[in-house]
Amino acid sequence: MRVTAFRAVLFAAVIAPVALSSQDQTVRIRAAKALDGTGKVLSNVTITIQGSKITSIGPDNSGAATYNLGTLTAMPGMIDVHAHVGWHFDKDGRYAARPGTPAQEILYSAENAFVTLMAGFTTIQSPGQANDVELRDAIARGVLPGPRILTSIRVLNERSGTPAEIREKVRQLKADGADVVKIFASASIREGGKQTMTEEQLQAVCGEANAIGMRTMVHAHSPESIKASVNAGCQQIEHGVFANDEVLKLMADKGVYFDPNIGVVLQNYLANKSHFLGIGNYNEEGFAFMEKGLALNEAMIKKAVATPKLMMVIGTDAVAGAHGHNADEIVARVRQGGQKPMDAIISATSLAARSMRLDKTVGTLAPGYEADIIALDGDPASDINAVKRVAFVMRAGKVYKR
Ligand SMILES: [Zn+2]
Repeated sequence: MRVTAFRAVLFAAVIAPVALSSQDQTVRIRAAKALDGTGKVLSNVTITIQGSKITSIGPDNSGAATYNLGTLTAMPGMIDVHAHVGWHFDKDGRYAARPGTPAQEILYSAENAFVTLMAGFTTIQSPGQANDVELRDAIARGVLPGPRILTSIRVLNERSGTPAEIREKVRQLKADGADVVKIFASASIREGGKQTMTEEQLQAVCGEANAIGMRTMVHAHSPESIKASVNAGCQQIEHGVFANDEVLKLMADKGVYFDPNIGVVLQNYLANKSHFLGIGNYNEEGFAFMEKGLALNEAMIKKAVATPKLMMVIGTDAVAGAHGHNADEIVARVRQGGQKPMDAIISATSLAARSMRLDKTVGTLAPGYEADIIALDGDPASDINAVKRVAFVMRAGKVYKR
């Protein structure tokens, strides 16, 4: 049922952009309001697009609009720096911990990519699985609707070997086309989140990545694992359920990005408990840890928001069942963390782009940027829930939802 409905929407979405866009034609989008992704608000704006790129943006009401968005609020397509696009439930509704056939796996990934795009997310970073590469490349060719994908392909952890072996694995990731290196410096939250990799291992992975120009993102819950990762030169910390004032300040001082996941992943696990329970560490003890994690996250995010100069980006850790709900993270940062709505929007757009070194490409509405443009029913700067009311999606100049 789910797959059939998906296919019907998929065909409608695929056919539409072919008819609506052409590389040569100038497309003009008019909106009552636009947020540029860096904190600026523009009124009665026209955005001009040629091919995949924005060529101008400003208060120009002359000429016909290709898409008149009326009272909607335009903004850059949202970015999720941590979404497991390949995770899914199988045909029995159970979390599929072991891969199915290659065809099944890539179709589930394509389904997740589609619902993520429809939710207004035009770029995601997947930490990561092997078939992300084929999915990433198909979407980049413009033949499959989905967000732009960056992937780690594989992960490194305490079992990845000696420092020398780890350095070799980092070089191999680069050779295989990985966009980022994903590292597990601590155990899962379902196992208490204590540090697992040694300082030498962390220095090897992040040292080698820095030497060859690759970015690093580190799963780290305990303060010790966060500290060791930051001191090893790693660039981004994920989760951080147990992050305290000391390590929050350390990340801010060292310019390390922080991606707390407080609004989607645990809520999704608890809501879908029966789909996960009994598989691996998804046992009663693991769920008890996650239940406690909700309150810990709520306390942590308030401290994180209050930490001066801490660069927080939007990432959800979207797993099976969570795809398409990515914007809940933005709402939670504001509702639970007390973050200003505009700061949360910047976290999901220009700052997230900067964390992925795409800050000259996406995340901002300005000439020269990719035309990744969405429109919301409402103004998220005053009503943050508007990020969940996505009425229009364009990615790289193609319209996928209107
Ligand atoms: Zn994750």
